[in-house]
Amino acid sequence: MEQTLSIIKPDGVKKGLTGKIILMFEENGFEIKAIKKVQLTKKEAEEFYYVHKDRPFFDSLISFMTEGAIVPMVLSAESAISKNREIMGATNPKDAKEGTIRKMFAESIERNIVHGSDSPESSKSEISFFFNILEIL
Ligand code: ADP
Ligand code: MG
Repeated sequence: MEQTLSIIKPDGVKKGLTGKIILMFEENGFEIKAIKKVQLTKKEAEEFYYVHKDRPFFDSLISFMTEGAIVPMVLSAESAISKNREIMGATNPKDAKEGTIRKMFAESIERNIVHGSDSPESSKSEISFFFNILEIL
């Protein structure tokens, strides 16, 4: 079994989609190993998205990710990382396939409802950013 980090972003939480998105994960065979609700500080969001620090959208992304509560969770399944990326859909909802979370709910390439780890390395570091070992069951 593989683990990945999913985040319901501030737009998803505000739209009342938390339960619906969790249901989609469970119906697609993921086990929720850990979950919490938090609001990131600017400094924390900048650390989480450090790989994007030189991108033109970085400041806007940080203000979006800190504008409200988020729901990070650890998902477990076979090939969890790629499976989650499939259920999420493409970064830009215009390019996302029918039935994906981003196609159904996202407003724009920035306000795109969910985050998902993109590799085993990022999954490991992103999970430990939000959860300690005792919180993952
Ligand atoms: P993903 O979340 O699909 O892995 P990236 O890692 O490339 O996408 O980007 C991280 C996040 O930054 C995206 O989910 C989105 O919120 C934001 N983002 C990415 N590209 C753009 C862009 N061109 N303009 C505005 N925001 C963007
Ligand atoms: Mg990414």
